[in-house]
Amino acid sequence: MPKYVFVTGGVVSSVGKGIVAASLGLLLESRGLRVAMMKLDPYINVDPGTMNPYEHGEVFVTDDGAETDLDLGHYQRFTQARLTQKSNVTTGGIYNAVIQKERRGEYLGKTVQVIPHITDEIKNRIRMLTAEEEPEPDVAIVEIGGTVGDIESLPFLEAIRQFQIEVKPSDTCTIHVTLLPYIEAAGELKTKPTQHSVRALRDIGIAPDVIICRTGTVTLREDERRKIAMFCNVREEAIISAEDMAPIYAIPLNFQKQRLDSTVLGVLNVEAQKDDLAEWRGMVEKIGNPAHELRVAAVGKYVSHDDAYKSIQEALGHAGIANDTRVVLEWIDSERFEGPQDPAEGLACYDGILICPGFGKRGVEGKIRTMRYVRENKVPFLGICLGMQMAVIELARNVLGLPNANSTEFNPETPDPVISLLSEQRGVRDMGGTMRLGAYRCDLAPGTRAQQAYGADVVYERHRHRYEFNNEYRERLEKEAGLVVSGVHHRDGTHLAEIIELPDHPWFCGVQFHPEFTSMPLKPQPLFREFIRAALAHRNARD
Ligand code: GLN
Repeated sequence: MPKYVFVTGGVVSSVGKGIVAASLGLLLESRGLRVAMMKLDPYINVDPGTMNPYEHGEVFVTDDGAETDLDLGHYQRFTQARLTQKSNVTTGGIYNAVIQKERRGEYLGKTVQVIPHITDEIKNRIRMLTAEEEPEPDVAIVEIGGTVGDIESLPFLEAIRQFQIEVKPSDTCTIHVTLLPYIEAAGELKTKPTQHSVRALRDIGIAPDVIICRTGTVTLREDERRKIAMFCNVREEAIISAEDMAPIYAIPLNFQKQRLDSTVLGVLNVEAQKDDLAEWRGMVEKIGNPAHELRVAAVGKYVSHDDAYKSIQEALGHAGIANDTRVVLEWIDSERFEGPQDPAEGLACYDGILICPGFGKRGVEGKIRTMRYVRENKVPFLGICLGMQMAVIELARNVLGLPNANSTEFNPETPDPVISLLSEQRGVRDMGGTMRLGAYRCDLAPGTRAQQAYGADVVYERHRHRYEFNNEYRERLEKEAGLVVSGVHHRDGTHLAEIIELPDHPWFCGVQFHPEFTSMPLKPQPLFREFIRAALAHRNARD
């Protein structure tokens, strides 16, 4: 059985539990341990797949097609943990399973209740996370969404309390993450909300072993550390100061300096090798001192929400590290280009342009106008999912001369459905979990930019969309617009277009999948890396 670390949050929401969990995962891996990562989310949606990005930020997708919380993106970028359908569980998912069991009569006539039936299901899911993993992980890190004191979090915290008394004391460790407000007039960090939050946790029967204190721009003083330790009944060395850090990849180094990994391993009674963080440290230093800088515009729809395209933002940063470049990313709402404003006015200052994924009609025409600017002005371009579809529609309208070409998502009656639904999607009524989801094989055509970028003939990339490139237009787009389909997924004697390119352009690449989900700071995603390389060349040519 693995050891378990539970990460809870107090005082405010968005306190950064996801990055704490991911950072600890990295530190434990650096000590030679194998980790598993999991997020428990208290909301009633079965998964976040049906939620608006304004509500919930990005939906992160796993290889096996789970639509999950964006904290799994942090786990992916910081650790080697394998993320699957089992890695993210919501209240809705738990209730769904319990109600189905009840309908099948599996509770043998009993009254089905939160305790023990809901809490048993939660404990089962936690155990299931590592049950079939080969080799078995040494430590499972389980993050509990929400804030201690929320009604919704209670069953999860109760399940953890029970879990802790079912195993040995040295099998679990609880980390509580809180916020310490800084009062300017007093010149000090206030510990009272943390004390109250720990008390609320103790009321539920959970005593934290470690407290991680978010302190904003100031560092926790020794006397403040002692005070929290004393009032919260936690050892002094287990009170960790978590200042805001940029880049976020420096956060694990700050925790390591305060020996968070050794403290946790001490609680869990695990012997581990000395840490090896040299490569990670080198990467963080490189981010701080880049040789070049360039500007990229990301044109999308949910641009006012910080986390709506989280993985894209991070993947561009990783590509920057690989090219020794600071990528200054600016978000642009595509609706801006739907009025009289010419995209050239708003976009001329950028060295590369990315068109974001998205759903629904709003802002689409602005993206198509952006595409025309990108193609005609030979600006390096990466189009992701909807971004690739926009590129195809623009070519069909402005090069093939089909003015009403569209995706049937935006105009079901279009005479030229260059992007359309596969027959298997036509009858779908349920919105949740029914898109083309997860990793699909993509065969790359020899000699194309995509094949050169990957340095491989076959890759697997993750999808999340319903609509597809319509092969009926492929030949015309190839012959008349110079389009190259450089990646395809073969199936049922036919194929789906996964990557498109324009060779007569410095770097023009649209992908039907989401390359951002697999990018890591030490292993940038190849298409992002080459996009930034091309943007740098474009910038240098302009200077
Ligand atoms: N709305 C488009 C589709 O469903 C694109 C989705 C996306 O960009 N993820 O195919």
